[in-house]
Amino acid sequence: MAKTTKIIAIANQKGGVGKTTTVVNLAAALSARRRTVLVVDLDPQAHATLGLGLEKQNGISLYPVLAGVKEIAEVIQPTKWPNLNVIPSEVDLAGAEIEFGARPDRLTMIKDALMPVKESGAFDYIILDCPPSLGLVMTSALAATDSVLIPTQAEYLAMDGLALITNSIEKLRAGVNPSIELNGIVFTMVNSVARLTQDVVSEVRNHFGDKVYETMIPRNVRVSEAPSMGVPVVFLDSRSKGAEAYKAFAWEFMAKNPTRGFAAEVAESVPQAAPQVEEAPHAEEPASAEGAEALGASETEAVEGA
Ligand code: ADP
Ligand code: MG
Repeated sequence: MAKTTKIIAIANQKGGVGKTTTVVNLAAALSARRRTVLVVDLDPQAHATLGLGLEKQNGISLYPVLAGVKEIAEVIQPTKWPNLNVIPSEVDLAGAEIEFGARPDRLTMIKDALMPVKESGAFDYIILDCPPSLGLVMTSALAATDSVLIPTQAEYLAMDGLALITNSIEKLRAGVNPSIELNGIVFTMVNSVARLTQDVVSEVRNHFGDKVYETMIPRNVRVSEAPSMGVPVVFLDSRSKGAEAYKAFAWEFMAKNPTRGFAAEVAESVPQAAPQVEEAPHAEEPASAEGAEALGASETEAVEGA
């Protein structure tokens, strides 16, 4: 079976809701599960780039590709970890909003840029870290994506924020991206004892049903410390509450967004439930030591929940 690459945009027009943290740790946890991942950092602040341990470099981003002066293969950078790659961001990307605003292909420019990578089948997942605005870069990212994952905090007015972005998704479906899907909604920085949190979570679950991921990411200090070290928390402190939550979330994400080999992997984890599978688990590249450790706990529960 040919590998299908799924593109997922992680988006919310609001800043500080955990988009970049989710991009970095979902990507890291997927790579530890031997999924090949490409993170595309589309925020000129470059926090995903830094969080994955890379420096900003002039000319290494999607910007020169959009400008037509570089091939996309020239800007894909490996990280320190196997299976985990990134197209970094740089400040020039901030200029894209204005500079490319009059291009006739402005809405499809990111889709066109990513097409050769998608078609190569080199990656299981391409994860787009969107900037916090409904500007051209985010719209063009939404035009390029198969689905949109929305991180949100369980706060007052969360539903209003979700309505804004889900409306944008509907508009894109009616226009430039007819096959776009809502991948799901994931609660981040959750304080599960707060009454307001519980109310917001139930309201959002009532409205969006099974589009809301079961796994919620708790507020956890290790998660907020990891970016300054340039190491995703799932590798930095794989037993911390934040890391455990992101690993469980990645497992749930893989179950909902299988590329290939997932059925075989579930069969391996839960032998008694083994279905007939056509395909052996994907294993050409061994996971790193951190990766192997990151594979550990919460897997069985996650499988049962899947
Ligand atoms: P966005 O990309 O939506 O702007 P970030 O992922 O950059 O949001 O998160 C905003 C801030 O919150 C960052 O300082 C980040 O380290 C912190 N943060 C995100 N998730 C958590 C968490 N689960 N626990 C503690 N701090 C978090
Ligand atoms: Mg961000």
